[in-house]
Amino acid sequence: MKSQTCSYLDGNAAAGELSRIFALDITAAKGQCANCGAKRHFAEAHLYVQCPGLVARCAVCNHVLLRLVNAGQRMVLDMRGMTYLAVEISQSHESTVVV
Ligand SMILES: [Zn+2]
Repeated sequence: MKSQTCSYLDGNAAAGELSRIFALDITAAKGQCANCGAKRHFAEAHLYVQCPGLVARCAVCNHVLLRLVNAGQRMVLDMRGMTYLAVEISQSHESTVVV
């Protein structure tokens, strides 16, 4: 079987596209992988852009964390690969988005 390698960027590369949905920069947010339980900043995810939309994978187990597809007038966001995403709003407040 021939293995296929894909190159990826880090999660910071998703900031522009994700800013179309989120008012906050979620690349600095910390999330938990639903597969292995790793808790990491979104910026540490491996981001694949050579597919329909963006695919962010866990840096530890390679599980899909997030998929974002821009379909013209509609953007589809799938975050079921994360147990949660904690977005720091200010230095004294933190908000958790359960997905
Ligand atoms: Zn994982």
